[in-house]
Order: sequence, then structure tokens, then C-alpha cells
Amino acid sequence: MGFKVEHTDMTPSQGHGLRLEPLHKKGQSKTEDDLEKQVSRLSESNNKCCRCCGLTRSLGIHQAWFIQDPCGIICAVLTYALLFYGVIVTDAVLLYPIGWDVYSTINGFIFNSLGFLAFISHIKAMMNDPGAIPLGNATRDQLGNLGLKVGQVVYRCPKCVCIKPERTHHCSVCKRCIRKMDHHCPWVNNCVGEFNQKYFVLFTLYIALVSIHSLIMLLVHFVSCVGTEWGGSCAHFSLPVTVIFMMTLTMEGLLFSLFTLIMFCTQVHAICTDETGIEQLKREQPTWSKKTRCLSMKSVFGSKMNLSWLNPFVKPDVGSGKDLRYMYSV
Ligand SMILES: [Zn+2]
Ligand SMILES: [Zn+2]
Repeated sequence: MGFKVEHTDMTPSQGHGLRLEPLHKKGQSKTEDDLEKQVSRLSESNNKCCRCCGLTRSLGIHQAWFIQDPCGIICAVLTYALLFYGVIVTDAVLLYPIGWDVYSTINGFIFNSLGFLAFISHIKAMMNDPGAIPLGNATRDQLGNLGLKVGQVVYRCPKCVCIKPERTHHCSVCKRCIRKMDHHCPWVNNCVGEFNQKYFVLFTLYIALVSIHSLIMLLVHFVSCVGTEWGGSCAHFSLPVTVIFMMTLTMEGLLFSLFTLIMFCTQVHAICTDETGIEQLKREQPTWSKKTRCLSMKSVFGSKMNLSWLNPFVKPDVGSGKDLRYMYSV
């Protein structure tokens, strides 16, 4: 066996200076036996994938992925509650009282479409595999089948017993190694990685747009109604109830627009510089050849720059994740 296996929590890019050493067969076989047991335990207890149902299939999610983290599930439910509250209150307080005129029809269509796209982007970001490395793909037998050359160093995650490709990090919440992991986001109850970053960026974009749109309509409603003492089509509910709804909507709109705009800009900056959030945080020396801004955007959103970049129903063609050169070239 002409290669050395490193058990490490480090990313491959942190592991400079390792040299080939012959494997100690006795010690190695004991370790490998333990690893085989760990692999079978992992496949029984740590499988985060569930079978797809009709709903997920219709959304283009063929292998549903759902992280069973109570904190993340609460945050995701809270996100839906706030989104639906904002959409329903905007429709009921700002648009419905006006009736079917040009202003309310156009704004209602744009606003509800943005809210729907934000909702779909969230579901896709939450229920798509962010780029998890298969569990237990680094057993002695499987490593032997790779035909690795003498001197080649392979990094193995001790927790999921998998080979760690370049730019892969282990997430302690997902309990998996994630390709190009940017960060774990409790609001989408998932990691943001190579395969779902597009949906996460779209989620932040659409939430920012829907919040700003709501704030503009709030301002228009307030300015046009304050002079008429809230008569006519200004208040469908009683005045105190309308004021309470408008105040909560303003607070939610300001908070959401600010938070998601910052997240959106951070994500776009990370994509343009071809450096994930974790890599920036750890100040890792890049061992990969950095892509240009345009190529990096294409690697996240899809190979052809068109309107599909903004469509959360379209899966970006960023590779199957089964490219062996990528998997083992460390
Ligand atoms: Zn791992
Ligand atoms: Zn995670």
C-alpha cells in the first residue's frame, strides 16, 4: 500500500509538510477494524437523508435532505412564520383595502411573487444536500481500490471516516464533511456548501427585496392616509389595529432587509473572491487555483449566465460531486 492516510480535523489546505511513511500493518489493521465498526454505526445512526415524496420531487428535489437539529428546525419554522406574517399583513392592511386598481394589482403581484420565490429558495436551501461527502468511503479496502501513487497523502475525517477533498470542512451540526462549506446557517437548518449556495443567495436576495418593497408600500400608505384621517380605503381594520400591524411590519421589514442585505453582500463577496466564509475566518492559505469572478459566479449559479440564475426551481449545473480527481486530489 503506497500511500499514507492522515486522520485529521484539518482541511487538506492546512496540512502542508506531510511525508510518506510506510503503514505499520499491525497497528493499522486494528485501527481499520475500529473504522469498519464506526462506518457501520455511522450508516445506521447518522444518515440525514430521507426518501423523497411527491412534493419534494415536484420541487426538483429527488433525494430529500433534512437535518434533524431541534434548534435549526425552530429557526426555520420561525422564518416561515415571520415570512407569512409579513406577506399576509401587507396584503390585508396595505393592498386589500384599496381594491383592484392598477397600484394594488401590480404591487400585489410583484410582492407576492417575491414572497413565493423567497419561500421556495428557503425550501431548496434547506432540503438540498449542500455537498456532503459519502460516509465511510475511506476504509482500507476502498482506499486500496483507488490506485493511489507512492507519496500521495489522503486526508481522512475521523468522525465520518471519509476522504476529505480540498476545501472540505466537517460540520458538527450536520455531522458530515461538506464540500466548499461556507457556514452552517440555523435559519435554513442546513450548511451552505457547494450544491446549495445558489438557493441560499437567492433566499437572502428575495427576502431583502420583499422587505424593501413592503417598506416602500408602508411609506406610501402612511403618507397618503395621514392627510385623510385614515378614512375611505385606508383602514380595513379599526385604526388602532391597523397602526399596530403597520408598526410591527415596519420593524420586521427593517430588521429583515438589513440582515439579509448584509448576508447577500457577504455571500456575493465570498463568491467573487472564490473564498468561503470559513476560509476567510481561518485565514487559510489558498492551495487551490482561484477562479475569476465570472467563473466563480458560474460555478455557483450555473454555467450559462441567464435568468435561470434567479430561478430557485432551476438546479445549477455545478457537477455531480463524484469527480474522482476532485475527491482525492489533495
Ligand atoms: Zn467529517
Ligand atoms: Zn452543517
